[in-house]
Amino acid sequence: MRSRDLTDEANEAAALPWREPGLRPKGEDARPSLYRSALLDVFTLSHPAMPYLIGVPFAAICAWRAWAHGVGAGWGALLFVLGWAAWSLVEYLMHRFLFHARVESETLRIATLLAHGHHHVWPQDPRRIAATPVQLVSIALLFQGLFRLALGPDAWWAAMAGATVGYVAYELVHWVAHHGRPTTRVMRALHAHHMKHHHLAPGSRWGIGTPLWDWLFRSDR
Ligand SMILES: [Zn+2]
Ligand SMILES: [Zn+2]
Repeated sequence: MRSRDLTDEANEAAALPWREPGLRPKGEDARPSLYRSALLDVFTLSHPAMPYLIGVPFAAICAWRAWAHGVGAGWGALLFVLGWAAWSLVEYLMHRFLFHARVESETLRIATLLAHGHHHVWPQDPRRIAATPVQLVSIALLFQGLFRLALGPDAWWAAMAGATVGYVAYELVHWVAHHGRPTTRVMRALHAHHMKHHHLAPGSRWGIGTPLWDWLFRSDR
């Protein structure tokens, strides 16, 4: 990736919203291409239905594989909850330390824009909200590796089912925060939490699926 692939304006606009609170790019509801290079732009896009079309059947397959490998109901339920918790912690850490990393290198800066910056420039664009296919495959492989290493060839399936359901729930909360009408108290609280990340204090409130880690790490202020 070469920096001249980027338009200067898009590059600037993408860098500003969360680094300089209060500065908003113009025309954020429009859907311009972020990059002059159509190839780079493709890597920022995803279909909003993809998390559910892939995540729900995949979670069901993982749960079935856990059962087929002899993982009992109690142990399986515990691993499911632990997998969900692991996902939400990784979601928090990635958002805080990777997606919003303050980097000097132009290549790394472009990487953060490709990974997440574009969503802050055009937060209402439905094509820039769900994880992209590259992100989805990378994170799935990471979890598969970690869970298999920690839990062995049978039990890891139950943890993977929990992490996948946690991921789908996160995508749902994020979608409702930007495009839905939160009706329950919990969803309204999650919506407010994420809107503050976008518009009030971009250097805080990194959790989207849950504010738990923000409370624990005191990043909710
Ligand atoms: Zn963000
Ligand atoms: Zn958002």
